[in-house]
Amino acid sequence: KPKSAAAPKGPEKIPGVDRILAVASGKGGVGKSTVSANLACALAAEGRRVGLLDADVYGPSQPRMLGVSGRPSSPDGKTILPLRNHGVTMMSIGLMTNDDQAVVWRGPMLMGALQQMMTQVQWGALDVLIVDLPPGTGDVQMTLAQKAPVDGAVIVSTPQDIALLDARKGIDMFKQMNVPIHGMIENMSTHICSNCGHVEHTFGHGGVAAEAEKLGVPLLAEIPLDLQIRMAADGGAPIVTSQPDSPQTEAFRKVARAL
Ligand code: ADP
Repeated sequence: KPKSAAAPKGPEKIPGVDRILAVASGKGGVGKSTVSANLACALAAEGRRVGLLDADVYGPSQPRMLGVSGRPSSPDGKTILPLRNHGVTMMSIGLMTNDDQAVVWRGPMLMGALQQMMTQVQWGALDVLIVDLPPGTGDVQMTLAQKAPVDGAVIVSTPQDIALLDARKGIDMFKQMNVPIHGMIENMSTHICSNCGHVEHTFGHGGVAAEAEKLGVPLLAEIPLDLQIRMAADGGAPIVTSQPDSPQTEAFRKVARAL
């Protein structure tokens, strides 16, 4: 049966990219970008060809976290060459604007930028492309799921109720868009005092595990609130690359092996 000319365009594969994995959160500030960067480095360490598309258009953190700067070049004036560090090929809207320049774009422009990052960037051959999404359930998430074949989503949340409430909405959105949930990651799960080793449950404990069980999705990791993780992220070399033997690194590599 011939297809109607008016049929909307479905998801289209990004040339060379095997799987697209979305990293999402309900709230901002829960560590979604930190997890994305570490997961990308962990996948690279496990021998996978990995890319990271920073789609957090309102607060792109990946150039800083992966220690990448400078403007991507476009030798042919049509396609964009991504940048690369720590074994990760990356592209971010943050590389197209100045550090202090706010992205004050309207929806359609944002969608244009996202589509450009998906279709005009020469990603090369990748086993996995991680997409660091903005928090919440908005246009960027919908555009991604509609325009690209998303293999699955990983949901990052902190354990407290207020963050879980929004994480639940995110999970529901992916379900509605037929994107499978690969699992949840509890970030800032515990705080270990670097002075005395005392373990504190700053944001409560086990909230994400309980939620994951209720939803029937795996709990992929519990990552503690750790000064080293923050310093590594701010310093442009995620803990997975800068401290390959730390227990946090092993936690991320375990997730990478499961994906
Ligand atoms: P989001 O992407 O959800 O907005 P970020 O990844 O930007 O959150 O994290 C917010 C801040 O918290 C960053 O400064 C980051 O370094 C820090 N952070 C994230 N996860 C951890 C952690 N497990 N331990 C310590 N600091 C963390």
